[in-house]
Amino acid sequence: MGFNFKKKYGQNFLTDKNLLDSIVSLLGVTKETTVLEIGPGAGALTSAIARQADRVVSFEIDHDLEIVLAENLKEYSNTKIVFKDFMKASNEEIESEIGTKDYIVIANLPYYITTPILFRFFEMENKPRSLTIMVQKEYGERMTANAGDSEYSSLSVLTHWLGNAKIVKKVPRYMFTPAPKVDSCIVHFVFGENKYDKEIAAFIRSCFLMRRKTLVNNISSAFDISKDDAKKILEKNQLNSGVRAEDLSAEVILKLYEDVKNVLNV
Ligand code: SAM
Repeated sequence: MGFNFKKKYGQNFLTDKNLLDSIVSLLGVTKETTVLEIGPGAGALTSAIARQADRVVSFEIDHDLEIVLAENLKEYSNTKIVFKDFMKASNEEIESEIGTKDYIVIANLPYYITTPILFRFFEMENKPRSLTIMVQKEYGERMTANAGDSEYSSLSVLTHWLGNAKIVKKVPRYMFTPAPKVDSCIVHFVFGENKYDKEIAAFIRSCFLMRRKTLVNNISSAFDISKDDAKKILEKNQLNSGVRAEDLSAEVILKLYEDVKNVLNV
């Protein structure tokens, strides 16, 4: 393609037509759907989506892809490429480029920006309907893990709190050009009713602060709360004082947040 892949932008491209088409079918795109894509690369996924969707608006950081994308997308008048670092675009700018509040997101992202991009959408006021993101396999496992699983973490609870996430496809490293050192998976996330709240997010993170510590210890060291009060909160919720956050569902952790808030009187 006459293009030098840039490691600094996580440029590992997909080319397998069957895989690209199966990703598009997972998106549930129809002729009414507007899709926001982050990181179109050479446009292989972009064109597969454009064949099924109403519009695709893609943000690409690398201006060197301008000629490649212009050539590869010339048949698709329903595509628009915005050459800009997605992380530097304001919400207003993103909304104005998309032109509608009803859209879905697809992103085959470089792994180093998975978390900032995910939380960018988690924290947005006008959220997309869904996020379908290619992530490192272990990251997807952490997002979708349930209480008691070895991968269960604050990311799992944050994800369960805000919606419903599922691994919809495993993508081995050899499917990419050039092949990265790790395997990937595609996570489909649908937003629920809960709105992001900084305080709740901080509480969830503090529950998992020291993995080997009990919840009583984590809560009392993160907040101005005695161990006795922390134990009383657990008792009130029929939990024993040696419990760890990794054993508790998102619902129980959110309930504990309400009780901690009451003790702190905030
Ligand atoms: N979607 C293509 C595919 O599936 O073959 C390319 C995926 S590649 C893993 C990631 C793409 O994201 C690259 O094209 C890279 O230049 C772009 N990218 C990296 N950081 C970005 C950012 N902050 N904003 C927008 N695009 C970015």
